[in-house]
Amino acid sequence: MEKSKQQDGHEISSEEHLRHPLFLNALQSIEEGGKIIKADPNIVARLKRPKRCIIVSVPVRMDDYNVKVFSGYRVQYNSTLGPYKGGVRYHQDVCLGEVVGLAALMMIKNSVMGLPYGGGKGGISVDPTKLSRTEKQNMTRRYTSEIGPFIGPNKDIPAPDVGTDPQTMAWMMDTYSQEQGYTQSGVVTGKPVEIGGSLGRNGATGLGAVYVTERTYEKIGKSMKGATFAIQGFGNVGSHAALYAFERGAKVVSVSDVNGGIFNGDGLNIKELIEFVKTNKTVVGFPKSQKISNEELLFLDVDTLMPCALEAVIDTHNVDKIKARMIVEGANGPVTNDATKILHSKGVLIVPDVIANGGGVVVSYFEWVQDSMSFFWDEDEVNNRLKSIIVKAFDKAYLMAKEKNVDMRQAAMAVSVDRLQKAMLLRGLYPR
Ligand code: NAD
Repeated sequence: MEKSKQQDGHEISSEEHLRHPLFLNALQSIEEGGKIIKADPNIVARLKRPKRCIIVSVPVRMDDYNVKVFSGYRVQYNSTLGPYKGGVRYHQDVCLGEVVGLAALMMIKNSVMGLPYGGGKGGISVDPTKLSRTEKQNMTRRYTSEIGPFIGPNKDIPAPDVGTDPQTMAWMMDTYSQEQGYTQSGVVTGKPVEIGGSLGRNGATGLGAVYVTERTYEKIGKSMKGATFAIQGFGNVGSHAALYAFERGAKVVSVSDVNGGIFNGDGLNIKELIEFVKTNKTVVGFPKSQKISNEELLFLDVDTLMPCALEAVIDTHNVDKIKARMIVEGANGPVTNDATKILHSKGVLIVPDVIANGGGVVVSYFEWVQDSMSFFWDEDEVNNRLKSIIVKAFDKAYLMAKEKNVDMRQAAMAVSVDRLQKAMLLRGLYPR
C-alpha cells in the first residue's frame, strides 16, 4: 500500500488518511442525511469519497538562509454544485486526513446554505506563530504557485481559516494574478476591502449566527428581546455575535475567552466590553462583572448558549449539566453528535454549525460575485442579502426536522444531501 510520511516522521498509508476522526464524523453525517431522505446508495457512495487530493511540497528560504520544506494540501471534495470553495489552514496538526474531513464539511455546508459551490479545503502543516512575516509570505506564495494550476475563480476559491488572514489572501491573490498576467481578484475571498474584499465580511459569521437565533425565537413564538445569553469565546465569531445580540435587546449575562469567563445577571454592556478588551486583551476583569470559569459558563441556566470557541466542549461527559434551552453553534462542532441526540430528546433546540456559522461563507460568496462584476455593494446590502440566504437555509432545515421528526443537525444533513443528490442525478455519471 502507498505510504507517506507525516511531520512527526511516522508513516501512514493513503487509506489511513481516510480514517481521520474529522472525516469519519463527516461520513457519519452524510450517511445519516442520506438515510432520512432515502437517498440512492450510489449517490451516497460517491459523496463518501473526495474527488481529488493534491499534496505539494513547499520549500521556503528561511530568514537564516536555510531552506525548510513544508507539506501543503488542497482537497477538492465535490464540484457538483459549482467551483470548489473552502479555507486554507496553517497549523502544525494539519495532515491530509484532516483536510479531507474539512473539505467534506465544506461540501455539506455550501450545499445546505444553497450556494453555487462545491466543497474544498487546503492547508500547510506548519506552526505559523514560529514564522517571520517574510517567511510566511514566501511560504504562502510558493504554496499558491504549487496549487496554481488547480485553483481559479471558476475552479477553486480558497479563503482564510485558522492561522491565515486577509493579508494571507492578499498574497495568494497577488501570486496567482502575477502568474496569470492580470489581476484575478476572485481567485480567493476574505481579502482586504482595498483589493476586492467585501464590506461586512469581518462580522458576517457572528451576524449570521444572530440572524438564525432571531429566526429560531420567531419559530418558537418567543422574542429574543430580554432573553438571556451566554457566549463562549470572544474572538471574531463570539464578540460579533455578542454585539449583534446585545444591539437587538438580548441580555448577554456571560461571555468568556481563553483566560476565563465573566458574569452579570443584569446583562453585560457589550459595547463597553469590546472597548475594554481592546486595551486589556481579555474579558476578565471587566467592571461590574464576577469571574466564572469556562465550564461554569456552559452550565448556566440561560435561554440561549452560543459556544463560539472550540470543538467538542459539550459531550456525553458534561451534557447532563446543560441547562440552556437553545444552543446555537457559532464554532465548528462544539456539541458532539451523541450529546446532540441526548439534548434533543430533552427538548433542547440546537442550531447546527453548518447553518449557524454559515454567514462567513455566504459573504465570501458575495465577495466573489462582486469581484466578478467589479461592482461593490454597501454594507446594508450585504447584510440584508446575508439575512435572506441564512434564514432560508434555516427554514428549510426546520421544515425537514418537523417533517421527518429528527433533530436540526440531522435535518441540515438531509437538506444538504438532498440538494447534492438532485444535482448529481441531473448531471449523471461521466462516462456512463
Ligand atoms: P478566534 O481565534 O477569533 O477566537 C477564538 C476565541 O475563543 C478567543 O476569544 C479565544 O480566547 C477563545 N478561546 C480559546 N480557547 C478557549 C477556551 N479553552 N475556552 C474558552 N474560550 C477559548 O476564532 P474565531 O474566528 O472566532 O472562530 C471560533 C470558532 O468558530 C472556530 O471553531 C472556527 O472554526 C469557527 N468558525 C469561524 C468562522 C469565522 O468566520 N471566523 C466561520 C465559521 C466557523
